[in-house]
Amino acid sequence: MSTLAINDLTVSVDTEDGPKEILKGVTLTINSGEKHAIMGPNGSGKSTLAYSIAGHPKYTVTGGTVTLDGADVLAMSVDERARAGLFLAMQYPVEVPGVSVANFLRTAKTAIDGEAPKLRTWVKDVNTVLEQAGLDSTFSARNVNEGFSGGEKKRHEIAQLELLDPKVAILDETDSGLDIDALKVVSEGVNRFAEDADKGVLLITHYTRILRYIKPDFVHVFINGRIAEQGGPELADQLEAEGYEKYSSAAV
Ligand code: ADP
Ligand code: MG
Ligand code: MG
Repeated sequence: MSTLAINDLTVSVDTEDGPKEILKGVTLTINSGEKHAIMGPNGSGKSTLAYSIAGHPKYTVTGGTVTLDGADVLAMSVDERARAGLFLAMQYPVEVPGVSVANFLRTAKTAIDGEAPKLRTWVKDVNTVLEQAGLDSTFSARNVNEGFSGGEKKRHEIAQLELLDPKVAILDETDSGLDIDALKVVSEGVNRFAEDADKGVLLITHYTRILRYIKPDFVHVFINGRIAEQGGPELADQLEAEGYEKYSSAAV
């Protein structure tokens, strides 16, 4: 059983004109066994929340707390957050020039476990997760995100998720730019991960499409740096029908 607890989080981003407040008090608890979806219009601060939990240097936490099983996530380095069991798949993954997928995965796994994975099972494990993500074994020789299609980036993220086996996965716009086949593969991967009662999922998305394949237990509507409404899966259906229009008076 693990719990990621976000309490009254306020965050500013560094811009050329100085700091700009984006998150204006976000409170959210994700327990293992739960799938949460954050939905909201563009610019509402969804990615800022993900980056802040990840420890991205551009984002400054000005108030509130984030804890994983009671441990202060905000006091941890980016690596420590991963070791503690947080996994973050970002909306705009970066290229890692000259580092192959195989080396990247092995380095990440070693950093998280504190020891190198056993060679005998490792290659098999990598091939299994790549295959499940619909990637063939030659993919492991390619450089991370270099020339990857949108679909390949997301499939690679799902392979990472299954291999690294975190406690809580935060997936930012994991559905963006995916064709229907890739969307299904990615959704199946997230569902496989979430089947385990020890895992929690925070799925961030602008569109309801992925929520036909990944059924959230809780839906949070994000408007202007705050959660404006919370509900169950029926809230996603309502948003699909009505959009974010009715919240526009609360928007920026
Ligand atoms: P969402 O993911 O919901 O589309 P973001 O978190 O990306 O929203 O952005 C929220 C707001 O913060 C937007 O107004 C955006 O322009 C601003 N913002 C986010 N990151 C930066 C940044 N690195 N520099 C300047 N402004 C930023
Ligand atoms: Mg955006
Ligand atoms: Mg975003």
